[in-house]
Amino acid sequence: MDKEISVVITGVAGKMGRETAKAVLAEAPALKLVGAVDPRADGKDLGDYLGLAEGRGIIIGGDLNRLLQGVKADVLVDFTNPQAVLSNAKTALEYGVAPVIGTTGLDEVDIAELREISERVGVAVLIVPNFALGAVLMMEFARRAAQYFRHVEIIEMHHDQKIDAPSGTAIKTAQMIAGERGSFKQGHPEEYEKVPGARGGEFEGLRIHSVRLPGLVAHQQVIFGGPGQILSIRHDSLHRESFMPGVIMAIRKVRDLRGVVIGLEKILD
Ligand code: NAD
Repeated sequence: MDKEISVVITGVAGKMGRETAKAVLAEAPALKLVGAVDPRADGKDLGDYLGLAEGRGIIIGGDLNRLLQGVKADVLVDFTNPQAVLSNAKTALEYGVAPVIGTTGLDEVDIAELREISERVGVAVLIVPNFALGAVLMMEFARRAAQYFRHVEIIEMHHDQKIDAPSGTAIKTAQMIAGERGSFKQGHPEEYEKVPGARGGEFEGLRIHSVRLPGLVAHQQVIFGGPGQILSIRHDSLHRESFMPGVIMAIRKVRDLRGVVIGLEKILD
């Protein structure tokens, strides 16, 4: 049997962190949850917090650095926010812990810094903008469609507590489409907005629209238009459970990678 993988979660009191803790605990004994961090729940018992007997005895910490001084871990899963994620990933690397990053908000400079540290310490980083397998396939199908359809718009829809826009998935999709068809200015050459932002954000000439409403979880539609036809590719994450098989796969595989790897598609068999 493979050796168990010890896991630490940052952002454990958040929506994704709680779901991840349950998923990791359910994978015992192959995965072992050895620590959990969230300043919002500092000092609380994780089992009591989640209402799960399996998590009893794990006391939530307020700071990753302090936790890793006393706990030996293999993998960190981070679901925090754009302000915390870089520092958490750097801390993990310095302790030889491989970060699996679900948090959006890392920019090119941050990723370059992580790449440099990852190579220096010889520990991989896996950044996954979307852990839902269906969403990964949606992006791949959109990339393929962009070989034949140049006109496309993306509508992404999320719950109204999401802080950043557009979503990491929408940006990744747009990058994959642009990688196929290049930069291409769409729409009427003289179009103008009567309400600022009405045409959405522009990325390499294609438009991205972000909808935020209570009741939504994570949804995206990629709409291609051609003469006399429309092709819509849509994915809906209806519950955060949809991300968990991808999270577990990432935990299992990150230590076999090298450097900084971006995207769940890179670790699919
Ligand atoms: P959330 O606001 O519910 O949870 C974030 C948690 O992080 C909070 O509990 C907060 O207290 C905690 N936190 C803040 N700073 C911290 C620190 N320094 N150390 C430890 N914990 C800290 O947010 P959420 O809905 O769970 O989403 C978290 C992130 O995951 C967002 O960036 C979101 O866009 C992203 N997300 C990614 C995927 C994916 O598939 N990759 C899916 C859903 C959400």
